[in-house]
Amino acid sequence: MNKKGHVLNAVLLSIGLGYVLEPSGDVETFVKIAQISVPVVLGALFPDVDTAFGRHRKTLHNLAVLGIVAAYPLVFDNLHFVWIGVLTHYVLDMVGSKRGIALFYPWDEEFALPVGVATHSKYADLVTVLITGFEVAAFAAVHFYVVSLDIDVAALAAAFGVGL
Ligand SMILES: [Zn+2]
Repeated sequence: MNKKGHVLNAVLLSIGLGYVLEPSGDVETFVKIAQISVPVVLGALFPDVDTAFGRHRKTLHNLAVLGIVAAYPLVFDNLHFVWIGVLTHYVLDMVGSKRGIALFYPWDEEFALPVGVATHSKYADLVTVLITGFEVAAFAAVHFYVVSLDIDVAALAAAFGVGL
């Protein structure tokens, strides 16, 4: 997926998640969208840094990188919500593209879904919007039925005994 697709995905996902986390549709919802949108967009742009540094779709397109970014809020109390952008970047690259990503890099094997749509297809934007809709639904299901995504990360970090 290209930069435009990733930004479109991240912006729409932030709006959707804003309503998931603060469903009132009130000022709180818009504050929540403001809080998460820039981190999510930044996270969605980050993996493609490996077009310049490292090997594209490998060096910054793997689960280790996602784990490191996801650990930042717990360990350093910063980069909250950036992991969501990185995760959605991976999903979009795997679904909205013919080529996969090296999830287990440095193992070179690239993984993709067989239903991938070419990046430059005229349906690319439509596919991006549909994927985003599924992602919002998936996050909402996790948030309401498994674990609140709007967690107090400082408290969670303290519970795990991490944090500096
Ligand atoms: Zn990518």
